[in-house]
Amino acid sequence: MIPGPFQFHRPQSVADAVKLLSTLGDEARPLAGGHSLVPMMKLRLATPEHLIDLHGIGSLKGIRREGDTLVIGAMTTQHELVASPEIAALVPIVKETSLQIADPQVRYRGTLGGNVANGDPGNDMPGLMMALGARYRLEGPDGARDVDAVDFYQGAYFTALEPGELLTEIAIPVPPSGHGYAYEKLKRKIGDYATAAAAVVLTLSAGKVATCRIGLTNLSETPLLAEDAAACVIGTTLDEATLAKAADLARAVMQPAADGRGPAEYRTHVGGIMVMRALKRAAAKAV
Ligand code: FAD
Repeated sequence: MIPGPFQFHRPQSVADAVKLLSTLGDEARPLAGGHSLVPMMKLRLATPEHLIDLHGIGSLKGIRREGDTLVIGAMTTQHELVASPEIAALVPIVKETSLQIADPQVRYRGTLGGNVANGDPGNDMPGLMMALGARYRLEGPDGARDVDAVDFYQGAYFTALEPGELLTEIAIPVPPSGHGYAYEKLKRKIGDYATAAAAVVLTLSAGKVATCRIGLTNLSETPLLAEDAAACVIGTTLDEATLAKAADLARAVMQPAADGRGPAEYRTHVGGIMVMRALKRAAAKAV
């Protein structure tokens, strides 16, 4: 339970961090809150020779509105998301989901950027970012590029991040006022990763669903967007038959692993239930 030896670096700018990552190569890893990376190092599942600590880079912190988009710095902690008045007013599902991550100790230190860059299918934020249509800003030796959250995840712990790149910002389109939202997470106990979870963001028009996006957590090697399930609820009042159909369509894209949280069949079954619950609760909140 003791990490291997490493050299510690604390750059003061994104440019310096990118330079370190580029020159030190595969043996270097960014260090954000350390609440996924350090446990992996203690288990020797990760043995980076260089840690590039991002805490000295002030520009990676903060939440700002740019027109119809909320831009969140990668080093903004999960606790800061919970405490933010902008998040509560504009994208309250981010607060609701943050509160379901681990416990206050983890949330004080763990960051949004670390949570979405980690690539662990158990992380709660990636599926939510897909449901919100978020984009990630990646900065590397060749400049900056933006990648949609739906295109970022390629496999467990494999993402679109290229060598030398740093995730610097998460841009979330502000959902329309009056939208409904819910993050439903089944877990074995408080503080646990999801057995299955679903994020729903929708709007209603004259009592019927006008728009809907559904993100899924820990139901595959990567977070998922349940597009067919979301499409089938459009124009409906979310009657019981529609909810059951949406759950089945969502289950069709799930491929959870069998693990300590249950066999794949069980996790797929409860995944559908999370979708139904999230749809119902989101609709009840929408105006
Ligand atoms: P780190 O651990 O520092 O980094 C994680 C990975 O991302 C590393 O590979 C690192 O190199 C990379 N990285 C970090 N920042 C960047 C960046 N800006 N650009 C590129 N790469 C970067 N998470 C959940 O979602 N749900 C849970 O229920 C949950 N429960 C937990 C329970 C416990 C007891 C613990 C210890 C953790 C739990 N977590 C959970 C994980 C927690 O949310 C982590 O904080 C999060 O996964 C990673 O964020 P971090 O800031 O700690 O990143």
